[in-house]
Amino acid sequence: MAEISGAQLVVDSLKREGVDTIYTLPGDPVGPIVNGCAEAGLRVITVRNEQVAAMAAQAHSYLTRSVGVCVAASGVGQTNTLTGIANALVNCWPLLVIGGASELRRRGMGDFQELAQLESTAPLSKWSQTVDSVVRIPTLINTAMKQAITGRPGPAYLDLPADMITGTADEDDVVIPQPYGDPPRPLAEPSKIAEALEVLKKAERPLLIVGKGAAWSRAEEELLQFVDRTQIPFLTSPMGMGMLPPDHAMNVSSARTQALQGADAILMVGARFNWIFHFGQPPRFAEKFDLVHIDIDAEEIGTNVPATVGLNGDAKMVMGQLVQGLDQVPITYGESDWLTSLKEKAAQNAATIEPMLNSDFTPLGYYRILKEVRDAIPKDAIVVADGASTMDISRQVIDNWFPRHRLDAGVAGCVGTGIPFSIAAKVVHPEKTVVCLQGDWAFGFNGMDVETAARFNLPIVWVIFQNANIDKWVRTYVDGVEDPNDFQPSMRFDIMMQALGGHGEYVEKPDELRPALDRAFNSGKASIVNVIMDPGASRRPQQFAWLAREGRMGY
Ligand code: ADP
Repeated sequence: MAEISGAQLVVDSLKREGVDTIYTLPGDPVGPIVNGCAEAGLRVITVRNEQVAAMAAQAHSYLTRSVGVCVAASGVGQTNTLTGIANALVNCWPLLVIGGASELRRRGMGDFQELAQLESTAPLSKWSQTVDSVVRIPTLINTAMKQAITGRPGPAYLDLPADMITGTADEDDVVIPQPYGDPPRPLAEPSKIAEALEVLKKAERPLLIVGKGAAWSRAEEELLQFVDRTQIPFLTSPMGMGMLPPDHAMNVSSARTQALQGADAILMVGARFNWIFHFGQPPRFAEKFDLVHIDIDAEEIGTNVPATVGLNGDAKMVMGQLVQGLDQVPITYGESDWLTSLKEKAAQNAATIEPMLNSDFTPLGYYRILKEVRDAIPKDAIVVADGASTMDISRQVIDNWFPRHRLDAGVAGCVGTGIPFSIAAKVVHPEKTVVCLQGDWAFGFNGMDVETAARFNLPIVWVIFQNANIDKWVRTYVDGVEDPNDFQPSMRFDIMMQALGGHGEYVEKPDELRPALDRAFNSGKASIVNVIMDPGASRRPQQFAWLAREGRMGY
């Protein structure tokens, strides 16, 4: 009848559930958990701000198809994780945040760092609960894992009062659950598969849209088989990039506006008609189009656009069903005016940016910087992008050749993810090049955590696009007028990186950039390539402004 502490039960439970890494900023009362994890052989990545821990943990989830874990100290330490938790919720990514909390027995007495943690976190979480008895810790961690990863994934929050961490239980009283493991992968209703294929078969201007729900599901093989057999043109959401080869003849991503507007039937896989896809409304989409929508969340189907056929299930499984269904309902679109027109538009768009890619102009613009980065990285590099224009323009210039090799601000438009996402990418894939394209504004959010990369010997390269302002794309630059969007120009982030134990490069001219990038990639150290760029640089003119408000906003 040995006694076991709550902290030890947390450590044992995480290990049993298959967790091998935690992201944390240790502090009261979670110290025994963090130390226990290290003693138990888990990798403990200690960061500088709890927000970074929550964000890194969710990228870890997405890259490993498991539940990434963040452990935060009580009170304001825990509330620092809220932006990360919100981001996981909006992105549909699993995450487990364990928040230390003031003692249960002293609630309402003004205990150290006593805050309404559960109440403030619950609306941003898929599931949340306070541990109120030491013996239940393994069960609650098991439940949190299940809640985070099953169905539409999301964040689970476990509030862990100090007296539940230091308290003990008789080992014989503790129920040990089966580890949760991989979540179920539901199939769609079989009768709907032929129906969906019949809808797609009669399309004249079909389009496949692939989102990061499909990437989470690892549906890449089935998607490629479907595209190869049907010859359906496709494009992806930002983080759906790499799910299909960018050089595939059916890739019409570079004619996105025309493809969305012109399609008369859309197969939507693991993506939503939210702002990223303009709510599926005119003028960005046709007034009427057929929709076959695959989503693991039944309630999502029909949101903003009624589905002609809804296929509720796991993307990998349902795409497999559709591929099999092609034996009964064969579809081959082949060459068509639709495809030809999209390819022509894609070629035109590519030609428009060509001069900017090769511009020798000083100060540098986005396109030339991105072209140099593209040419300096291997095809299997993980590209993280953070900051509005940097992120948007990088999609036009840098392809992703493999699934889940691009991480960015996502549906929440969450600036500041670049540093934590890069850290997680390098922790998960130490063998791969990890490059983060980051605006100087975006860098400011979690910039101090480049030190974490240096300390843990994670040779990530951050390329900072330093235009020293926040939103020049909506403002007119007026000389001599103090602009609230301006930062101090030419900040020496490279020197900061050197001081923190990494490698730093400072670049002002186009021909300095490639050698600086090569030195950074070869340094074997966490690096910053600090590129001073044109404060007025912007992207090529677009047919529709970002978040354009024109057109119908509902149906
Ligand atoms: P994107 O940012 O790529 O456009 P969203 O985050 O808007 O994608 O949408 C992702 C969608 O994928 C969500 O509606 C989510 O429910 C869905 N999803 C998540 N996991 C799966 C899965 N395994 N199979 C199918 N759909 C999934």
